[in-house]
Amino acid sequence: MITHNLGYPRIGPKRELKKASESFWEGNISSADLMQAGSVIKKNNWLFQKEAGIDLIPSNDFSFYDHVLDMAVSVGAIPVRFKCLQNYMRNDEAGFYFALARGYQKDGFDITAMEMTKWFDTNYHYIVPEFTRNQKFGFLSRKIVNEFTEAKELGIITKPVLIGPVSFLLMGKAKEESFDTLDLLPELLPVYLDIIYELTAKGARWIQFDEPFLVTDINDRAREMLRIAYEEIGKEFQRLKIMLATYFDGLTENLDTAMALSIDAIHIDLVRAPDQLKTVLEKLPGNMSLSLGLVDGRNIWKNDFTNSLYLIKSAVEAAGADRIMIAPSCSLIHTPVDIDLETDENILPAGIKQWMAFSKQKIDEVVTLRELALSRIADPSDNIKLLFNSENLHSKKSSPLIHSVRVQERLGDILKLEMLSRSDFRTRKMKQRELLKLPVLPSTTIGSFPQTPEVRSWRAKMKKGDISREDYVSLVMKEIGNAIKWQEDAGLDVLVHGEFERNDMVEYFGEMLEGFAFTKNGWIQSYGSRYVKPPVIYGDVNRPRPMTVEWIKYAQSLTNKPVKGMLTGPVTILQWSFVRNDQPLSETCLQIALAIRDEVLDLEKAGIKIIQIDEPALREGLPLKRTDWKDYLDWAVRAFRLTYAGVKDETQIHTHMCYSEFSDIIEQISSLDADVLTIECSRSQMEMLDVFAGYKYPNDIGPGVYDIHSPRIPSEKEIADLLGKAASVIPEDQLWVNPDCGLKTRKWEETKRSIENMIKAVRTVRERYTVPAEK
Ligand code: GLN
Ligand code: ZN
Repeated sequence: MITHNLGYPRIGPKRELKKASESFWEGNISSADLMQAGSVIKKNNWLFQKEAGIDLIPSNDFSFYDHVLDMAVSVGAIPVRFKCLQNYMRNDEAGFYFALARGYQKDGFDITAMEMTKWFDTNYHYIVPEFTRNQKFGFLSRKIVNEFTEAKELGIITKPVLIGPVSFLLMGKAKEESFDTLDLLPELLPVYLDIIYELTAKGARWIQFDEPFLVTDINDRAREMLRIAYEEIGKEFQRLKIMLATYFDGLTENLDTAMALSIDAIHIDLVRAPDQLKTVLEKLPGNMSLSLGLVDGRNIWKNDFTNSLYLIKSAVEAAGADRIMIAPSCSLIHTPVDIDLETDENILPAGIKQWMAFSKQKIDEVVTLRELALSRIADPSDNIKLLFNSENLHSKKSSPLIHSVRVQERLGDILKLEMLSRSDFRTRKMKQRELLKLPVLPSTTIGSFPQTPEVRSWRAKMKKGDISREDYVSLVMKEIGNAIKWQEDAGLDVLVHGEFERNDMVEYFGEMLEGFAFTKNGWIQSYGSRYVKPPVIYGDVNRPRPMTVEWIKYAQSLTNKPVKGMLTGPVTILQWSFVRNDQPLSETCLQIALAIRDEVLDLEKAGIKIIQIDEPALREGLPLKRTDWKDYLDWAVRAFRLTYAGVKDETQIHTHMCYSEFSDIIEQISSLDADVLTIECSRSQMEMLDVFAGYKYPNDIGPGVYDIHSPRIPSEKEIADLLGKAASVIPEDQLWVNPDCGLKTRKWEETKRSIENMIKAVRTVRERYTVPAEK
């Protein structure tokens, strides 16, 4: 029985990688310094895993930006638009690598970065490989081989981790014309063989190929390509051991395909899909080893040894201990580095920390599981580590920190709350029109205004104690005052307070809700040098007191125009946090919904007439397999609707989502029944509105009229054209006018000029519509 790991965090325990790469981008350190910083991280990771007792330690899991980009560069998949730059920067390998990821606007070049998208259902973003129909590949970067040798010099024969050729092609995007990227397999495979050849020549015995697409709905062609790819690799390298890694869900439909591949071991995720173990064991060919993904790589809770040992036992009984491997469920890049760095009781209380494990601890858990499993085979009497583990888990199950009688009682009453339905949309719209008296094409923004370094510095100073809480509040109040005044002058119809008091739209609420904990160093990579520190939902969620009411009330007191109350929705709060694993996600989500509902009702009571409940993460929570969508969407919609249960017809509910793929879920979006929905649209030139028009989406809708992700100022004409386009598919009395998303990442200068152009455009378009109507 051997232990192995699929990938270790590359950011360093204290975010060393971020510091090094950002310094390199600023020109403060050389590429040699940067490489050196990378080597230190790699070395520490390898040596730690070796000392911990991991048998197969990964290499090539390190990356200076992203492992998919690394794979693309390794096989020479450089987008055409970078070709000139590649030549120009031929002596600056690191610089060129980052140019691919971040774009290049210097020395007369103006090249947009490669696109980024989410890594399956995680919050990690990878760089999307770009392929053309006549794509040529070549063994371009030696990173994979170099990392292997680097570890070998430390005395460690690693298991290089590569993205499998089929998943790599499926991850990519066809450019210039549309074609099936799988057509490129015959071109790509020889380069993989070259890389594998070098690795084996240097002494690699195991290679791990990640083929996570095996847990998604793939077609027969993809299955066939998997068969071909691994047959070819197996044939070429008969002494090499090939491990195929799957994670984030079960193999289900693709089980037979996977079992028929010519590979030596398969890794399965038993945290997300424990039920697959039985069928996998039934079908496992006699010459294939099975890697059990037992330690959760996606969450921060300690492993339940008793449960894992039970799974190991059934695997050993069916396949024999020699063919069983123990591992985390997936790469550990999705969990923070080391819980032992959390020493500040005021941030993470010991009572909660005792239940948690980060990557470093998870590696120890993997090794301990093997030790326990082996000792149990020899001697089934209980081991002290096992006793401690069950005691720890037991203390969590029964802890009053986690279970609140009050929250449980409230959950029991949910059905009653859900009956508090509002009138139909038509009726509500009439009442709201009466109350709000908004013009046609009402204009608004999504919520946040620029979080300037100054605003952020106030928060930092208050935390350090350099300014008092009173000083901080009065500074933010002044900022709100300026924002309200500016919005009135600009001529916006529905105003916002600007969210200056918020660090982050989830953290802000988490900090005020019971059941949430935070960490000081619990960073995970989101993309490149951007890391996030998700809150930890450990217990029943409750809102002890209002969270936003005073701020919004103050903003409203400064103007006669309506100010929107701004809240983050329950699905988004859930999605962007580490979640409890002792109850279904749906239940945690309903608890958060109840807390948000308390806030909604308090805002209404305080005289706020419009309340926006943001759900930017609703779509990304969709399960990997379509068969699981309905269940998820059912509870997600239910939770959202619960947040406004019992609200008056006159109170206008807005929601905002920032993505532009609605076709699959338009029905559920519609059943959220928000009075106004603002969405991202400008990048698709309003094309996406066709989905809404086709569906006859009944409620009001605000398609974003300009892209806030870019510093570019949109012209009045551009916006007017887009508005015209929108009005040609959606009746104008349903349309709102707003930017794509919140403006917190923009500068004031850009914001002001953009919004002013937006208002000018609305005015022109409004004339076009109102004049004929009055005749
Ligand atoms: N109200 C939030 C803001 O404006 C919405 C952010 C988001 O959609 N991600 O910042
Ligand atoms: Zn948004």
